Amino acid sequence: CGIVAYVGSQQASRLLVEGLKRLEYRGYDSAGVAIGNEHGINLARSVGRVAVLEDNVEQTPNLHGTIGIAHTRWATHGEPSEANAHPHTGTTRDGHTIAVVHNGIIENYRTLRTYLEGKGHTFSSQTDTEVLAKLIAEVYDGNLEQAVQAALREVTGAYAIAVITSAEPHTLIGARKGSPLIVGVADRSYLVASDASAIVAHTTQVVALDDYQVVRLCAGPNDQKADTDEPWSVELRTTTIDN
Ligand code: GLU
Repeated sequence: CGIVAYVGSQQASRLLVEGLKRLEYRGYDSAGVAIGNEHGINLARSVGRVAVLEDNVEQTPNLHGTIGIAHTRWATHGEPSEANAHPHTGTTRDGHTIAVVHNGIIENYRTLRTYLEGKGHTFSSQTDTEVLAKLIAEVYDGNLEQAVQAALREVTGAYAIAVITSAEPHTLIGARKGSPLIVGVADRSYLVASDASAIVAHTTQVVALDDYQVVRLCAGPNDQKADTDEPWSVELRTTTIDN
């Protein structure tokens, strides 16, 4: 029902939980976050109020990191439960984690689930969303933007999504078709949200995405080899899903 995501120089978890609180007025049954750091991606998910998730986040170790995705869920497929709460994850061939939050409905999720089970993926929820995480993991070949593009070409339905992977710890991908999603540009960072109210505290510079657009947001330290004195680099680029 609501999405907030962040990549940048600040700790993500508090910022994301604050963003979810601003989306509470839209209604939801459960909530969750995934935070990435140099060691991987860690999740906290809870049924009920964002305040319950907030307690959960405070008690969950390893939820430090400067990239993350967060979600309030209004269940369409699968009861409200911790297992069905977003983010959902998949594992790539080389053992990396893909984490996804999603608003909307994936109509062909049964067909995709059967296909992915045949490829060896084990599902842990009843949601339509989990096929997205597994499908992106299945087609992942070193480039998250391309994997999201390839996965979305196989999908029918409506979606706004935010995606991260442990393989690319400074890259956040957003995409939409039929559900709203915006990008906020802030100091050394980017935000993604389903609703401006989630990010206005951090920026008023907003880029609206169109249907079939994919946005790739990178914000991280410049590597030592880069030919620049600038210690931090940011990059926003949009592409179109060519069905
Ligand atoms: N269809 C997804 C689910 O049931 C997403 C629902 C939503 O938009 O919150 O988990």
